[in-house]
Amino acid sequence: MSEHLYKIAVLAGDGIGPEVMGEAVKVLRAAEARHGFTLELNESPVGWAGIDADGKALPDATLELCRGSDAILFGSVGLPDRDPTIPKEERPERAALLALRKIFGLFANLRPVRLPTELAHACPLKAERQGEGIDLLVVRELTGGMYFGQPKTTETLDDGQQRAIDSMVYTTSEIERIAHVGFKSAQLRRKKLMSIDKANVLENGVLWREVVTRVAADYPEVELDHMFVDNASMQLLLNPAQFDVMLCENTFGDILSDEAAALAGSLGMLPSASLGETEGDKTFGFYEPAGGSAPDIAGQNLANPIAQILSAALMLRHSLGENDAAAAIESAVGKAVTDGLRTGDIFNADDPNARQVGTTEMGDAIAAAV
Ligand code: NAD
Repeated sequence: MSEHLYKIAVLAGDGIGPEVMGEAVKVLRAAEARHGFTLELNESPVGWAGIDADGKALPDATLELCRGSDAILFGSVGLPDRDPTIPKEERPERAALLALRKIFGLFANLRPVRLPTELAHACPLKAERQGEGIDLLVVRELTGGMYFGQPKTTETLDDGQQRAIDSMVYTTSEIERIAHVGFKSAQLRRKKLMSIDKANVLENGVLWREVVTRVAADYPEVELDHMFVDNASMQLLLNPAQFDVMLCENTFGDILSDEAAALAGSLGMLPSASLGETEGDKTFGFYEPAGGSAPDIAGQNLANPIAQILSAALMLRHSLGENDAAAAIESAVGKAVTDGLRTGDIFNADDPNARQVGTTEMGDAIAAAV
């Protein structure tokens, strides 16, 4: 039991954001009562809610709140049908989401993908390919590589053709810090790390492999393997159960994390964490569901709150160090699923054990199990 007080910026945002956030808060309050810590949960508007309240997708007061917090629990932002005349850089996806990632130096993206056996029907793979059940974590480097490397330009050549250049650039220290996140994550799981690269073709791949292998010496209990990215994308479909933690640079991680997400069947089940540097024993993090604001189902008690609730569990583990409470929330989610509770996105009418419920009923059941 810890005696800690944690300050959390709670930014629910748009669409289903407030509905699923309400359920995550309910579950956090249950965990707090049971696990002996105190959460100061401070809500503030972001996204279109920020524009409506304060004229900006990321109001100054919201940013100040984030700066004074131990972590950000984020819902989702963006409503495609709202005011198309607003310039791109002022729209919530950029002005709030990308801005927060940049301001807080969030370089490590964690996307756990778990397919409980009860939800095998939601997975696009045949049952025999799902093995013992899919339970993997993609750790993606978020601030380097081809998306940011210089030069990055399109130029016109003498013969009139255009030439586009993107540069894949990584330094030793950038690889080291994401490798540490990968190994530490593996320590908390089944202690297997698959490092993904293209060392047979890319200079970056050679350096990546060298550095990751060197960092592995600090984590003797973690088993390290390497896989080329093309093979990894195939193995995810042929035998996803072989993976525990997959460590990827930015571009490869972007693609493989979406491929892995498809295995879980619904965006409503998938949490994510984006972490900054660890200072002392503190890691600032930003925690959000993998999906967006789902305007098609907003305000109807239809959204699956599990992605938001599992994002809160990731926050407890990675920013607050409350590992027992995080595990309790994850097993409470498992229990709700085993008990047959299903929001519409994961409901299967052929399953006699399944009972369709709304957002709040799912949240209530998970909070009660915590
Ligand atoms: P989306 O993820 O919002 O929805 C895609 C589909 O998944 C929809 O059918 C939706 O109903 C379903 N879905 C998503 N989350 C669900 C949940 N929790 N429970 C049940 N079903 C769920 O993607 P979109 O429709 O392309 O985007 C809608 C808006 O969200 C856009 O403005 C987009 O820019 C924004 N967006 C924001 C984020 C974010 O805030 N991180 C991420 C992605 C998209």
